[in-house]
Amino acid sequence: MRILRRENKFCLSCMQEHTVDIIERVESETFNGLKVNFNSIYEYCSNTDECIETEEIIKANGLAVKDAYRRASGLLTSAEIRKIREKYNISQKELSEILDWGKATITRYENHQVQDRAHDDILRKIDSDPQWFLEMLNRAKDRISEKSFSKYYKAAYEQYVKKKRSSMYKLTEINNVVSISVIHSERTCTEICNRNMYSNKRLTSFLREHSTDKNRGKVEPLLSI
Ligand SMILES: [Zn+2]
Repeated sequence: MRILRRENKFCLSCMQEHTVDIIERVESETFNGLKVNFNSIYEYCSNTDECIETEEIIKANGLAVKDAYRRASGLLTSAEIRKIREKYNISQKELSEILDWGKATITRYENHQVQDRAHDDILRKIDSDPQWFLEMLNRAKDRISEKSFSKYYKAAYEQYVKKKRSSMYKLTEINNVVSISVIHSERTCTEICNRNMYSNKRLTSFLREHSTDKNRGKVEPLLSI
């Protein structure tokens, strides 16, 4: 147990105003058949030696259990879902509408409900593939206002350009690393990967991903190294 902070407030345990410790402790709970550890928060009253939960704390502790379950099951946490949504500068309700989910779906995922695996995959795809999200936006064009569409399209397009730039940078970086290493030391691809801390799998999948017509000339010789 550790004290996070102290607050002077009306205490619901002794029904008096005094300094209350806000404490954190590790607890275990079984959720969906899985036992998880999570950090729970309580208010501690020194007059009654009691730990109590306000309505707000009950909500936060409930979310902490679910986030622990999500982490253990390889699902996005509520904060990660919020981060993806904020990356595209989009409201909970409108993201749900664009994806053709129930209007309150994203709000529930960010607050108390654990998402199913299929929805988790879609959220991850949005996070990693702005181009795909642009397609989703186009598909939902008639379902959202023109103003929202332009706002979200702009945000998604910015993410797309950013991603494209970083991929091109990575391609140049890997091209240089591989070419320079090969020319100067006749190393094998595995040695190059190890030396430069690229996993062979990562390099191969990266090169495959970028093996477009435009890049083919550059990428194919690298794949055959
Ligand atoms: Zn008290």
